[in-house]
Amino acid sequence: MVTFAEREERACELGDALTRRLLEEHLAADESADPGEQVACPICGRPVLCESPQEVEMEQRRVQTRRGPVEFERAARHCHHCRRVFFPRG
Ligand SMILES: [Zn+2]
Repeated sequence: MVTFAEREERACELGDALTRRLLEEHLAADESADPGEQVACPICGRPVLCESPQEVEMEQRRVQTRRGPVEFERAARHCHHCRRVFFPRG
């Protein structure tokens, strides 16, 4: 026998999984994930150059959302002026 609460719980789990998948697809399609040769440093605003962005290894990021953990990739950049590594917005 399946109770209403069990049906609701199962429906919520499926809804959460769908939400996480949609979020991951949306994050993967974001152009700022791998920004190309030049991007502005979010701290000082100076242009940060990257001569061969296609060779930069993407880093796996994980964020805890209200619907569970979501994973996505981002290319890190290093601002020599600030001496900081950052991930372009998005
Ligand atoms: Zn900077």
